Amino acid sequence: MKTRIALFLLLPALLLAQSNGSRQPAPLVLAHVTVIDVAGGPSKPDMTVVIRGDRISDIGKAGEMPVPPDATVVDASGKFLIPGLWDMHVHWYDRDSLTLFTANGVTGVREMFGNSGLLRWRDEIAKGSLTGPRMIVASPIIDGPQPVWPNSIAVGNEEEGRKAVREVKQWGADFVKVYSLLPRDAYFGIADESKRQGISFVGHVPFAVSAAEASDAGQKSIEHLTGILIGCSYKETELRNEVVKAKSPGARFRAEGVELLDTFSDRKAKDLFARFVKNQTWQCPTLTVLRSNAYLGDQSFRNDPRLKYVPRPMRERWGQRIASRNDSDYVKKVFRKEVEIVGAMQRAGVPLLAGTDTGNPFCFPGFSLHDELALLVIAGLTPAEALRAATLNPAKFLGLEKTLGTIEPGKIADLVLLDADPLADIRNTQKINAVISNGRLFDRKALNKMLAEAETNDR
Ligand SMILES: [Zn+2]
Repeated sequence: MKTRIALFLLLPALLLAQSNGSRQPAPLVLAHVTVIDVAGGPSKPDMTVVIRGDRISDIGKAGEMPVPPDATVVDASGKFLIPGLWDMHVHWYDRDSLTLFTANGVTGVREMFGNSGLLRWRDEIAKGSLTGPRMIVASPIIDGPQPVWPNSIAVGNEEEGRKAVREVKQWGADFVKVYSLLPRDAYFGIADESKRQGISFVGHVPFAVSAAEASDAGQKSIEHLTGILIGCSYKETELRNEVVKAKSPGARFRAEGVELLDTFSDRKAKDLFARFVKNQTWQCPTLTVLRSNAYLGDQSFRNDPRLKYVPRPMRERWGQRIASRNDSDYVKKVFRKEVEIVGAMQRAGVPLLAGTDTGNPFCFPGFSLHDELALLVIAGLTPAEALRAATLNPAKFLGLEKTLGTIEPGKIADLVLLDADPLADIRNTQKINAVISNGRLFDRKALNKMLAEAETNDR
């Protein structure tokens, strides 16, 4: 480890400290690190990365760039630096274990069912008084007159849809979340009012609306590939009419039936994906939850060592879901088709976001984002493309690409230091040596402490 003192850097630093009237914390330097370019450029070995406050201030070739004399220097020889990861679909309401995201290198999350607690945590994390991932928080779910979930906002017509949008904006939501049982007129009312209010709307494609219509209406992201398989069926209209008439989840499932796969049309898929590209409709496939939904009967889930981090009531609910399951070969076939579709979307240029649906059975805070990255690679993405879906793409989606998403001077220092190259094997994202969240360094020892403290034991 070489630390070179550059006197000429000292003076401006002192002046700056004085003019602020308070002492800046010492700069942080990662020395001899390989910087990964998630935008697709070549990796840059043996770099010096300087972090001041919450920002990356300089990046240069080691030896060519002076190290600030008062810096805390981390020898990162043989290590790899990636931008902080985002999980773009989570439901997590346990304040004591928000650090599980940070401990896994997930420095940002999109919370998909807002409540006032989350709004508070979002603001506390932004201020630095709570340790956890940056949060973008949804409205409460806006659903039809008989919502799927309690605490949703029930709307039955266009006017109620418009009113709900104005209310959740006022309340402080970062975006509007739409759901499966919305009637058509309510959905299109929400779409139009969101445009007027300058707030984005995302979520499930309702059963009563086609994915193509949702894309044209400006829905910014589609979650869990909702509406996609049916939208790729050459019997789309007929099948949707049956689904809309069905009164229960089971009946809806039967209404789609095996025809969903048998009537899949490559032509329709190609047209739908082209429409997503044209409208810039993002997809957050959440393969992690689709897999656990399809394979929940699998006993292997029971022995997942990560269960020790899940609060007991949630762990028990997950267990009950396993016990009551008898997965058919058909749901597994659907899952395999969905994995295939994600690869086809990437090849078609459809913008993708990495998300897990954390909070649902066997979708773990922080840990499962790495499961999602691995699934995206299985779907056909390169490791760089999978990483992009969890870094640069979320930044672009959120309109934050000037401050987040890549490793560049001036950007916020949300970074993950890895012991091995994630481009060689995506599973290397799990070999975390250190996490830098908003400029704050958590070394392996600090991360281990976080993990130990987040174990739920009897909680
Ligand atoms: Zn969800």
